[in-house]
Amino acid sequence: MRYLCGVVFYGLCSFWAVFPATLFAQSETPSVEDDGKLRIICFGAHPDDAEYKSGGAAALWAKQGHHVKLVAVTNGDIGHWAISGGALAKRRTAESAEVAKRLGVTSQVLDIHDGELMPTLENRKTITRIIREWNADIVIAHRPWDYHPDHRYVGILVQDAAFMVTVPFFCPDVPALKKNPVFLYSSDRFQKPYPFVADIAVAIDEVFDKKVEALTALESQTFEGGALGSAETMAAAPPASQPEARLAWLKERWARRAGGEANTFREALIRWYGEERGMQVKYAEAFELCEYGRRPNNAELRQLFPFFPPPDK
Ligand SMILES: [Zn+2]
Repeated sequence: MRYLCGVVFYGLCSFWAVFPATLFAQSETPSVEDDGKLRIICFGAHPDDAEYKSGGAAALWAKQGHHVKLVAVTNGDIGHWAISGGALAKRRTAESAEVAKRLGVTSQVLDIHDGELMPTLENRKTITRIIREWNADIVIAHRPWDYHPDHRYVGILVQDAAFMVTVPFFCPDVPALKKNPVFLYSSDRFQKPYPFVADIAVAIDEVFDKKVEALTALESQTFEGGALGSAETMAAAPPASQPEARLAWLKERWARRAGGEANTFREALIRWYGEERGMQVKYAEAFELCEYGRRPNNAELRQLFPFFPPPDK
């Protein structure tokens, strides 16, 4: 199914030629031919957020031939307790690309310092251009209420782009989208100003193993302790010489995390999958509809999430 008009413009105006300095790396050049498939873009603040929050849904879309791109808006260069700077940014960019490869999707990491993202006009333009270039049907991002300033500002920047992607004279170097995408928030546990609302819950059971196996590629984050880690936390994970133990260790953690999402958002799972199947779902990811951008009805949401069963089943 195709939600947006033709994309002939992509070949006329290369993002790479216009803004090479804003980009750090991309795992592959996206194809924007109108092939009847959906185009989904997931923004996270760091090279792991989009993977964690949307990796299962991304794998489900990719399985059906739809096109998914995971974008890290900062390069993750302070996201480790022992190393930082360009070397870490390169490592995390490569790890993100490897996750994307394993999920069957595309990735991009912007060369903006971790911890220093601001909701500037320049960044609003960058996000707008990226959404247009991807010709997105669905855009996913953090809510603008989150513990980390980079997460909050990704939410703000994507909200700020939610109308501007359709305005022709804003960033006229990249043609505006003819149809506004559906904008979604990824789940979180923050309560103020209001708790996350699971308008959509996706059962990821059939791709759970694939998601976790893909996430093992995020070595600098997953197995080494992240920004607040230490030699002790790093030692708590199995070493690189034991890949099977590492996978099992990570699977156990993600079973708790994705299992918790399924239980927390059970009502939404039942709404989309029906009582019987909804109750059986073990692992889930959930999304909230942003009130900016296109406002889809349930029938359109079922087309955008084509792995949901028909409503009468
Ligand atoms: Zn993050």
